[in-house]
Amino acid sequence: MPARVYAVANQKGGVGKTTTAVNVSACLAEAGERVLLIDLDPQANATSGLGMRANGASTHDLLDGVPLPALARPSGVPNLDVVMAKNDLAAAAVELSTRPGGERYLADALAGTLEPYSYVLLDCPPSFGPLTVNALAAASRALVPVQAEYYALEGLSQLLGTINLVQARLNPDLAVAGILLTMADGRTRLAAEVESELRSHFGSLVFTTTIPRSIRLAEAPSHGVPAIAYDRRSAGAEAYWKVAMELVERS
Ligand code: ADP
Ligand code: MG
Repeated sequence: MPARVYAVANQKGGVGKTTTAVNVSACLAEAGERVLLIDLDPQANATSGLGMRANGASTHDLLDGVPLPALARPSGVPNLDVVMAKNDLAAAAVELSTRPGGERYLADALAGTLEPYSYVLLDCPPSFGPLTVNALAAASRALVPVQAEYYALEGLSQLLGTINLVQARLNPDLAVAGILLTMADGRTRLAAEVESELRSHFGSLVFTTTIPRSIRLAEAPSHGVPAIAYDRRSAGAEAYWKVAMELVERS
């Protein structure tokens, strides 16, 4: 079975992309899958959230033609490899956009090299820039975290439009794996309203599981570990475990 490649994408910052990429990767790895997480954000939050720091090989090299096996590093989580980012990735992104065919650069770099993995997650930066376009061109599925807030739906239709465009122009295999409601505060009416609006618009495209606002999820990265390693019994860790299982069922 070829690796399933998920771009964790939303042009908004702070909606839970990195938290989702790190924790879903860790849960899939714990479930025994071989997982690769590629950090495509120059801010490198996924890298640091796993207690790692790129001083040599990084995503930049992947976009410069260095083969994946030379760049993937084992993380502290068994079964989870990471291609780390550092801030020079921002310059790489600008350069990408000037290359002819630059939108498919990542897809071409990954082609034929993913066979050791069953799942690959791409943690995208908060923009529709060249890195996100490359991720969507390389992925078979987009995994879309949406924060439970008033403006969430506006940004979402723009994102789904971009996904359709990439699908039409660059990557006919691309589909939406699911929309994941994050940072849902069960006690507020707003969170409940956003959830019911999402479900009525997008139906089964929305994950059954929602991610609650959980201090444990926010704390774990400062300890350099995913939430299941930091506090396995926390509501956030348990929710991400369920999301990972839903993803397996949907794939
Ligand atoms: P993005 O990658 O979309 O910018 P992050 O995953 O980095 O978003 O999340 C933004 C901030 O919110 C981070 O500080 C993160 O730790 C925190 N966070 C993410 N999800 C949750 C959650 N469910 N509950 C509480 N804090 C969260
Ligand atoms: Mg992020």
